[in-house]
Amino acid sequence: MPIRPLDIDPTHCLIGGKWAPCDSGKTMPLINPSDGSALCDIALGGATDIDRAVAAARAAFDGPWGRATAVERGRVLQKIGALVLENIDELAKLEALDVGKPLTQARADVVALARYMEFYAGAVDKLHGQTIPYLDGYTVYTLREPHGVTGHIIPWNYPMQIIGRSVGAALATGNAAVLKPAEEACLTALAFGELARRAGLPDGALNVVSGTGAEAGAALTSHAGVNHISFTGSVGTGRLIQQAAAHNVVPVTLELGGKSPQLVFDDADIDAALPFLVNAGIQNAGQTCSASSRILVQRGVYDEVVGKMAERYGALRAGPAMADLAVGPLVSQRQKEIVEGFLAKGADLNKIAKGEVIPDAPSGGAYVAPSLFEGVSPDHTLAQDEIFGPVQVIIPFDDEAEALAIANGTAFGLVASVWSRDGARQMRLARALRSGQVFLNNYGAGGGVELPFGGSGLSGHGREKGFEALYGFTSLKTVAAYHG
Ligand code: ADP
Repeated sequence: MPIRPLDIDPTHCLIGGKWAPCDSGKTMPLINPSDGSALCDIALGGATDIDRAVAAARAAFDGPWGRATAVERGRVLQKIGALVLENIDELAKLEALDVGKPLTQARADVVALARYMEFYAGAVDKLHGQTIPYLDGYTVYTLREPHGVTGHIIPWNYPMQIIGRSVGAALATGNAAVLKPAEEACLTALAFGELARRAGLPDGALNVVSGTGAEAGAALTSHAGVNHISFTGSVGTGRLIQQAAAHNVVPVTLELGGKSPQLVFDDADIDAALPFLVNAGIQNAGQTCSASSRILVQRGVYDEVVGKMAERYGALRAGPAMADLAVGPLVSQRQKEIVEGFLAKGADLNKIAKGEVIPDAPSGGAYVAPSLFEGVSPDHTLAQDEIFGPVQVIIPFDDEAEALAIANGTAFGLVASVWSRDGARQMRLARALRSGQVFLNNYGAGGGVELPFGGSGLSGHGREKGFEALYGFTSLKTVAAYHG
């Protein structure tokens, strides 16, 4: 199945500006999670393909791409963004088929991908160094320089958005990139590679090699020719990648998910909060790093919030991506089994509401009905561990101190929100919450492209999005000139 209208063969990899099968010629089927059918085959790249991709990236970095000025790089990115938007229907369809994401959510991801290109394109020629007052007779200044060849390991949940925030920032700052998309969902990564090529990105500046994590992924992250690694995915894989990066002593950005809370106080505008409380849990079927899986509610409004959330859950319907309901399938049967395993561990809990899997959803699809639990103890596994499915728990609290202790009481720290009309409380909690982003009276599920994003604890380290991403993809050189 060629990827239309771009005419890419998904059994090919993009290396040095050319599409070709991987060295072994091996492929694996890509599954449509909405019905379990095989969508197409993809290339199973391996160590030698990664070697060639890293060499091609190095040549681009040492060649025309490395010599391009910030404004020239920005123009190429602008063009990529424009081509992404021109192909919005096709890209959204590919993402929907591949990830199982409802079409409307997939379209939003295409727009976000284009926005990353626009933002980084416009920002990169404003990325200034500093002059530093120093000894008499000296002029000292700093230069922000690209790392060189960057490796990008992308997960399956938001391929386009994560490519945008990571590859976009790397290219904007003049790095050359090797992208390894997830084996569960990689069609839009291939399409992005082709669009970037058509936008005039020089050969080798972006290489896309699909394959398994154990082979292509590990080959990329342990490659001695890679100067920076960015990874979004599970904690376990993040540990392996940090170890690989440690061996080569290269910087690594890890975004590993979370158990993000929303804190709802007695004085909150409950009706304004409600759509955020629920959507942040079920968006992309809960397979979102910044999903809000814990809802902490003060006792004065507890019954009201529980009742109103339950009502919304009762109206949630899950079905095929193309049916464009609130919830699609999970990405795979494996992910469905993981989520069902958690639900089994919640058998002792008070499940107060469940959405519906529509009756005509194909039996081979990876569907799980969204589930809402209340009265959950903060130390229960469903309140501590990342589930990556459409499951939320509601936890009661008495006062601000208890809310804070519960909110900070997991190993993660990615996103949090506070719903309250008390400005002083908002400020106190914004400081005290252990979280890379804090939203006050809203919940951004990762926020916009302009907003720095990343975590602490098991959520990882390093910041993506916004100007911070551009800093992260550069290293600082200090130049001290003595002129007397
Ligand atoms: P999941 O378990 O949900 O699939 P992972 O974190 O394992 O999530 O996968 C995210 C990305 O990491 C995918 O692109 C996958 O191929 C890649 N990956 C998995 N294992 C490794 C590894 N050992 N080294 C490098 N990349 C890996």
